[in-house]
Amino acid sequence: MKETVMQGKPYAGNPHVRFDEGAGAPRHSGRSALLYKRSILDAVALMAAMATFAAGPVSWDMEVEIEGAKEPLSVESVQQKCRAEGGRFEYGPLTCDGRTLDMKVVVNVRDTPNGKVYSGVVENNDSRARVTMFNGPRLGAVALDPARAHIYIPSGFGRRLNYFPLDGKKSGPWDAGNDSFLCTETKLYPSPYFTMPWIAVDTGGGTWYAAVHDVRERAKRVGVRWYHREKNADVRFRHPVSIRAGDRWELPETVFEKVGGDWHAAAKRYRAWFDTTHPAVRSAAPDWTRDLTGWLLVIMKQQNEELMWPYTDIPRLCDVAERNGLNSIGLFGWTVGGHDHLYPDYDADPKMGGAEALKAGIAEAHRRGIRVCIYANGQLQQVGATKFWGEHGEKIAIRRRDGSPYVQTYHKYKDIPVYQFALGCLYCEPWHDRMLALARQAQRLGADAFEFDQLGAMEPYECWGEGHGHPVPHYSHCEERAGFIRRIADEMHATDKDFAIVTEGLYDAHLATIGMFHAWTPSAFMKDVNALKVSRATSCAKSEPFPEIFRYTFPELVTTTRNPTPMMRRSFVNYGAVFGLRHEIEIRYMPDRTYVLDGKVPTKADYGEVKNLPSLEAMHAEPPVVASAYMKAVCDFQRAHAKYLLRGTFVDDEGIAVTSRAGSPLPAASGLVAKRFVADDGTSAVCVWNLSDKPADVVINGLGQPQGVFAPGNESVAGPLAPDSIRLYVFQATCGTSVAKPDYATFICHRGESEDAPENTLPAYKMAVDRGFGFECDIYLSADKRVFTFHDRNLKRTTAGACTKKCAEANWETEISKADVGGWGKWKGSRFAGTRPALLEEVLELARDGRQIYVEVKTGPEIVPYIKKVFAKQKNATPKNVRFITFKRKTCRKLKKLMPEYKVYWLAWAKVGPKGAKKPVTAEYLIDGIKATRADGVDCQFDSEIVTADLVKKVKDAGYEFHVWTVDKLDESLKAFARGVQTVTTNCAKKQLDEYKARRSWKRTVSPSTDGSN
Ligand SMILES: [Zn+2]
Repeated sequence: MKETVMQGKPYAGNPHVRFDEGAGAPRHSGRSALLYKRSILDAVALMAAMATFAAGPVSWDMEVEIEGAKEPLSVESVQQKCRAEGGRFEYGPLTCDGRTLDMKVVVNVRDTPNGKVYSGVVENNDSRARVTMFNGPRLGAVALDPARAHIYIPSGFGRRLNYFPLDGKKSGPWDAGNDSFLCTETKLYPSPYFTMPWIAVDTGGGTWYAAVHDVRERAKRVGVRWYHREKNADVRFRHPVSIRAGDRWELPETVFEKVGGDWHAAAKRYRAWFDTTHPAVRSAAPDWTRDLTGWLLVIMKQQNEELMWPYTDIPRLCDVAERNGLNSIGLFGWTVGGHDHLYPDYDADPKMGGAEALKAGIAEAHRRGIRVCIYANGQLQQVGATKFWGEHGEKIAIRRRDGSPYVQTYHKYKDIPVYQFALGCLYCEPWHDRMLALARQAQRLGADAFEFDQLGAMEPYECWGEGHGHPVPHYSHCEERAGFIRRIADEMHATDKDFAIVTEGLYDAHLATIGMFHAWTPSAFMKDVNALKVSRATSCAKSEPFPEIFRYTFPELVTTTRNPTPMMRRSFVNYGAVFGLRHEIEIRYMPDRTYVLDGKVPTKADYGEVKNLPSLEAMHAEPPVVASAYMKAVCDFQRAHAKYLLRGTFVDDEGIAVTSRAGSPLPAASGLVAKRFVADDGTSAVCVWNLSDKPADVVINGLGQPQGVFAPGNESVAGPLAPDSIRLYVFQATCGTSVAKPDYATFICHRGESEDAPENTLPAYKMAVDRGFGFECDIYLSADKRVFTFHDRNLKRTTAGACTKKCAEANWETEISKADVGGWGKWKGSRFAGTRPALLEEVLELARDGRQIYVEVKTGPEIVPYIKKVFAKQKNATPKNVRFITFKRKTCRKLKKLMPEYKVYWLAWAKVGPKGAKKPVTAEYLIDGIKATRADGVDCQFDSEIVTADLVKKVKDAGYEFHVWTVDKLDESLKAFARGVQTVTTNCAKKQLDEYKARRSWKRTVSPSTDGSN
């Protein structure tokens, strides 16, 4: 085979594409016969100089090919000498298996308040070696509570792992293992199997964010190991690379951080990074795509050249789309060759009516308000079948190491030949040129959009093709893929800003460009809906679809579900509506046509030689008229409430707590999926789906009274919500997304976790932090001017009478620091005996972003200069993670004067006035008090009779914060949050949060009986 060198060039549309690691390096022949050896190495810990993190040192390993060797070497960090300086760890030359490699690895470790960020570089100067994989660093030994932990993985729309067995048996999400651990690993990012390169690990007592922040979108996967004996997990990212002699590879920033809150906080962390480095989401997508309810996908002519829909039938397709409520049509198989045949040639077929008839059909669709998308495959080219193959296709095919092209087959009928398809390498200009020409052709035919089928749906491939414009080998479909699509979109938009690009397959880096995703992705299929019903309505699954992950991280997303059947099941339609997805029906074969036109329900025999049938089970379950009427009703419902359901921002369950009314046959909240959408005007609506088999009385807490309740079609809006039904509750409150709910960040542990450790001691504060919460502490100034923690005015109660002096008159050095506040009352003889009060500086060491320390100042303003000195000397506490609270108005003012960057909340009782004649506080009283003290808000005693939603709203509308103390019952806390308070101070944060989580959905046993995975 003769090869010509083609000029590949970085794509203008993607500023991130460059080839640092390939420049100037000699190209290795794809045919050099390297053989591999994996050596089994003893792990020797000689990491004295290494930083430790969690329970382990920085840990990495690499796979290295050596020319002439039979197997690759496994080079591990623990076997290397390390030079450590500050946060820089340098290894090299590397040794392995008695061999020295002229390579250097540098890992830089940066501390952040809640974790660590790693970056680094691998340099290879060894002419006989090539690095093929870099694994690490690793987040090690994360203790998990197997009964409460979850791991959130962005596989497709999302997946949640719930199962952490103690016996080490492979089951549920765990697909490999040995005596010491079980493991699971994603496929490669970027692909529909790993749509964003981060995961969240909810340990049962806090959440870890583990991510790779890689602006270049290079290939990577993530693996999790569960060590069932130690009950801990580790997380490691794996980077397939090709680092040849002379190359320098940069390790993308790898972040391991504890976040305040649950997985939502991790999602927000990723999104915040994504927004700093990627073009704005949907910035190149036309606005009209937001109004799509979904599409009718039709294959007009099949692979066996059976002609099912001539172009003159487009009006009949419009009838079908309208009958199902869909406002767009995707034309597939519209060409001379039919579907999956003769690619990349796409010409209008004279036998189907020719180009003019096609144009007329599209114009008729437009007249009826229906958008049209025209298909081409974004990667497939049939081997040997077209002129393009001879001229360009063979040269630009993605190639294996042995030089042969990767070949895929799509054999749709048993009685026709198997066609072979090679893949176009996106670095090659001829592939770009052909795809651009096809998009322009679609535009000339009058289409509104062009679909690159499969282009978003494939994992990266290692391409060994010479002359493609990339180093050899190189992972294709990574950094160049979003740029490839963006470039074509830009070229189309130069003449028509409203032209939309669609891809099959979903992942984050495409989000700037794509108008609608045709979701071929986990959690997009009917089987995922069934799994979700099992996991949420009955018991808990070992792992389950969790579409919340992608929807919440990217609430702007417009994507279809995936349904290769000419009708949709009721539950599938409801699933789409409640998650803000778009629907799909697919008409692919002749019996599908008869089904949608004549209402004839086909049998298996009707499909003859067809290999992959639509869901006959679905088609037989509901009469065609009933199925299409419900789908239309839901699409109309979504359009009627488009400001929420199509154009709104999906915020999951932020600010709402959904329960069923007492006495309902349904256990509280189980079997209900409720999702909140916020419109551009700040109002909200909550879409609720009852996927249980019992009617449910729905109560939505958090947004006040609904202004309206709506349901699709003629479905009832009164009484209990019937099984497999949806409703929309619309709220006028413009409270944005700030309404809080029980969470790690919103419960403040009063005097520390004072139910489980003695109040106002370091053990009580540490317990709060270890459990994931912030806390409140009380402080006094001692006679020798130290700021220390204590609640009462004198030392009597919590020293069990050992000391009776007033706090302000006792000396820290000689008295307070000797006092035992860990043995009074119920703590007598406990493990806390001998605990002394804490100094403020010791308390501030525990400050963490994402949760708050409330410092209650018990004294007059004389203490404030001493507080300021303590703050000046420490580094953890910041205005983000510390608040002051105090009843004393003068102290309040002094704090705002000397430490203005810190927030201060004025403490208030629910009733005020002289003894015997106390009256409930009013909003006016509270606002006056806040103004007089110059505070940032109020921290008020909670009395559910007095602290009403109206009172809270008035104070917040005046521009102040509203917090409450001290609430120890979950029902009372839920009331408080529902009324708009921002935090609740409590003696039993963990107990309440555990109860809240248990009530919401989880009846967990360590060995669940139902496996909802698929
Ligand atoms: Zn290539």
